[in-house]
Amino acid sequence: RLSGDAYRRQHEITVTGDEVPLPFSSFESTGLPSEILREVHNAGFSAPTPIQAQSWPIALQGRDIVAIAKTGSGKTLGYLIPGFMHVKRRHNDPQMGPTVLVLSPTRELATQIQDEARKFGSSSRISCTCLYGGAPKGPQLREVEKGVDIVVATPGRLNDILEMRKISLQQVSYLVLDEADRMLDMGFEPQIRKIVKEVPTRRQTLMYTATWPKEVRKIAADLLVNPVQVNIGNID
Ligand code: ADP
Ligand code: MG
Repeated sequence: RLSGDAYRRQHEITVTGDEVPLPFSSFESTGLPSEILREVHNAGFSAPTPIQAQSWPIALQGRDIVAIAKTGSGKTLGYLIPGFMHVKRRHNDPQMGPTVLVLSPTRELATQIQDEARKFGSSSRISCTCLYGGAPKGPQLREVEKGVDIVVATPGRLNDILEMRKISLQQVSYLVLDEADRMLDMGFEPQIRKIVKEVPTRRQTLMYTATWPKEVRKIAADLLVNPVQVNIGNID
């Protein structure tokens, strides 16, 4: 078994922040509930990916995170599993609105995140739905009305639904900006900022991005509070 520092060196993990917890090098060392460990085992995963190993302990402390890691590194479960734990701790009534909000650039990605949340969260009784453009609003609104713990949304469609006053984000206390660089490239910054205004400021905010250009740094500086920064591999 590698020490936390050796694990970081081996996997090219660098962290910036105060007293950053060491990575979890195995699923067993996470202390996650057995339902979740059973799901990762059923999925055939043998160990957390480096971004998961390092971001789980930070996210579980309730801290804001900026994580910079390339596509395919397992970022989705990196934020979803601590999100499940957050939902469990809050005990909110999902009828009053979601506890976790994930913003994602495209319909395809939002659907994939929803599928991952259902696959790994159903046995923990976590519910999830997604909202995206290019499809009728009715069925999406009905899912929200039923009450869900996690909403995954593209910024454009979520803004439309907010303007219709068909969803409340007042219970959201775990906000994820996934593929932040891509959302900004697609011109979603104004919608993101409007959405974030509807989320209480007492929240945990996590930003995942594959690149770290100045536009992304700016929005991170505006929306996150004293984040821990985690890089996997070299960043440009
Ligand atoms: P990213 O968001 O970083 O592009 P994803 O979260 O989409 O990456 O994950 C990429 C793939 O890796 C998915 O098929 C996912 O199910 C799988 N995966 C996630 N975590 C692990 C793990 N710990 N071990 C093996 N495969 C994993
Ligand atoms: Mg992803």
